[in-house]
Amino acid sequence: VPYPFPASEAATAAARGNRAKDTRPEVTLRAVLHGLGLRFRKNYLVDTGEFAVRVDIAFTRARLAVFVDGCFWHGCALHQRLPRRNEAYWGPKLARNVERDRRVDEGLAEAGWRVRRVWEHEPAELAGRDIARELRQTRAESPPP
Ligand SMILES: [Zn+2]
Repeated sequence: VPYPFPASEAATAAARGNRAKDTRPEVTLRAVLHGLGLRFRKNYLVDTGEFAVRVDIAFTRARLAVFVDGCFWHGCALHQRLPRRNEAYWGPKLARNVERDRRVDEGLAEAGWRVRRVWEHEPAELAGRDIARELRQTRAESPPP
């Protein structure tokens, strides 16, 4: 499924920085989650014990961490295109991003969090319903108070 990135996507992403707060896909997903009546914390700092990480959208009671990952920065197999200029720079840099994402996922898992990564190309409505379903399952699994 092609995703209509503007031609300058790489440049825009570079200017915006890697883990930008409040990106458009993130704002859209949060609006969907709000619409579903879900409550969460945004840009929530979690200390895993080993490192601290800011979670884009955190459901603290369910300990579900949601990240909205930009296709360019986080290595979407469908949409990441390495800029032809400075490929020697971008290749390793972007590979390191993906490695860091995996370390973050592992650290959060060890700290008792589940992680859901949402690609920026995923329709927010579908991702939102997925997350709502996951939260219902979490509640069903947890013992009554
Ligand atoms: Zn993508």
